[in-house]
Amino acid sequence: MKHNALKKYFAIIFLITISLLAGCSSSADSEAKSDESKKPIIVEGPMPIEAEKFAERLDNVEKEKIGNFVFYKGTVNDYPVIVAKTGKGMENTAAATALAIEKYSPAAIINQGTSGGHDPNLDVFDIVLGKRTTNIGSLKTSQLAEDEGIKPKKWKPMDLMASEGSAGEDPDAENIHYYKGDEKLLAAAHEVKEDYTKGKVVDGTIGSADVWNNEVDRIKWFHQKYGTSVEEMEGAAGAQIAESFHIPYLGIRILSNNKTNGGEYNPNTASANQEYVYEVVKHYISMNQ
Ligand code: SAH
Repeated sequence: MKHNALKKYFAIIFLITISLLAGCSSSADSEAKSDESKKPIIVEGPMPIEAEKFAERLDNVEKEKIGNFVFYKGTVNDYPVIVAKTGKGMENTAAATALAIEKYSPAAIINQGTSGGHDPNLDVFDIVLGKRTTNIGSLKTSQLAEDEGIKPKKWKPMDLMASEGSAGEDPDAENIHYYKGDEKLLAAAHEVKEDYTKGKVVDGTIGSADVWNNEVDRIKWFHQKYGTSVEEMEGAAGAQIAESFHIPYLGIRILSNNKTNGGEYNPNTASANQEYVYEVVKHYISMNQ
């Protein structure tokens, strides 16, 4: 009798434990699922004027500083959004992008900020959506001996992602590598175009390098050879890293200056772009819900 009561007691304990474990694991599953559907959207901006306006719009912000990079972790309409102040240039952007991907597993990355016009039909305050982004600093010069001079118009594009072999020797690496803007991010950006009233919003090609080009003939050369709409110093670096991790990516660049049509530099464009990108992010979030 005593033995039977003990058996019953253990059976009950066993059943309770099993059901508790089952409950635990199913709640862990649903947590993992909701985490999965709530991967953050990362919005990158190089300079304080290109990141902080967006960061101010986040709710529940927590600031995390790693090296020179500042990550403002918050929410937009209860959805996690992280603004990354990356610093200027290709190296900063590549490192910040890789770090953000490893640390936050983002659903998508938007790289945004100011740029200089390569297309004379684009004015200061117009916005270019990076249907394509390309590195305009990755170049191979022609073969010239001493005293034969420098011929920049003969320089060829060099695709560092073409192979693991020598890009200097490999003729297959003499191609322009275009990183494609993510279709869904582009669709979100198209759908809120009308909300932007300070200029046009167009699809185009963003060219990036750690170079500020002020020579109009050189700018024209890129425009004709690469089809660039604008230049800046970050987009292609982020795109290269995002592509290698298969993370959806889009560059969104406002013209702050345009040498080809006399458009003077205007720093107020940085906040105008963030206002537009904020609308894009909200729309992208609504598409995912
Ligand atoms: N214009 C400021 C500093 C800008 S530094 C000054 O003179 O002090 C360059 C930053 O602006 C980079 O983040 C780059 O992405 C962007 N940019 C804007 N217009 C550009 C242009 N014409 N060429 C290259 N980068 C440009």
